[in-house]
Amino acid sequence: MNVTLCEVGPRDGLQNEQDVLPPTTRAELVNRLAATGLPRIEAVSFVRDDAVPQMAGAEDVVEGIERRDGVEYVGLVLNEKGFERFAASGLDRVNLTLGATESFNHRNANATLDEAVERVTTILGKAPERSTVTISVAFGCPFEGRVDPAVVASLAERFSEAGEIVLADTIGAATPRQVKALIERTGAAGFHGHNTRNTGFANAYAALEGGASVLDASIGGLGGCPYAPRATGNIATEDLVYMLEGDGVETGVDVDALIGISEWLEGVLGRQLEGQLYRAGSFPSA
Ligand code: ZN
Repeated sequence: MNVTLCEVGPRDGLQNEQDVLPPTTRAELVNRLAATGLPRIEAVSFVRDDAVPQMAGAEDVVEGIERRDGVEYVGLVLNEKGFERFAASGLDRVNLTLGATESFNHRNANATLDEAVERVTTILGKAPERSTVTISVAFGCPFEGRVDPAVVASLAERFSEAGEIVLADTIGAATPRQVKALIERTGAAGFHGHNTRNTGFANAYAALEGGASVLDASIGGLGGCPYAPRATGNIATEDLVYMLEGDGVETGVDVDALIGISEWLEGVLGRQLEGQLYRAGSFPSA
């Protein structure tokens, strides 16, 4: 079995960190990650600088990236303006995202659910073949609670022309059977899980069992959750690689190289990260 890992630390991870890192450091992080064998890296988000200071200067980050063959570099886009910036950037894949609920779209993108669907549909019309639609809060919403799987299923159907669909457990509320069932029902290619309530790794595993082939993860478990102030971030990439490789799922990623990056990041951010493998060490030890 093969899986495509999508590293989202430079985007989802850093976006939810208190510290604002300069574009040069963010580009260095992307370059270090690309050297580990990761096939896909979400490098930037094309949002307004004042709206998300952690993501300011996306073009400067892109400029600092030393492109590596075999690595797909992704930019996240919320609206038309963001898509124009993506198109000018020369990145490989666009990740278009919307929420599964009215309230989430309102708070996150100042749009109704219908408007958000319309936005994504319009942009998809001119997007490159390599496009991803991520449906946020696909399992639970901080404002509306549990999300009806039927709503997510009908959203997924509306974006059938996208290159792939990723279901996101944005607030880390899902449990494995829910994830497996919704991946099966929608035929979604990928799963994006936060480890807010420590279900993230089991959920990722369940997504694979449900037929997913793309998993998002964040180096060191970087990040947090904008709607749960003390919550942890995405599932840690190196911990995920350890689990998958141990179970015979090929990732193509050098886990020791990932551990080295988390050690470096600990110094950059001046705090211990959530990831556990970089503290425990791999097994058997190298
Ligand atoms: Zn996320």
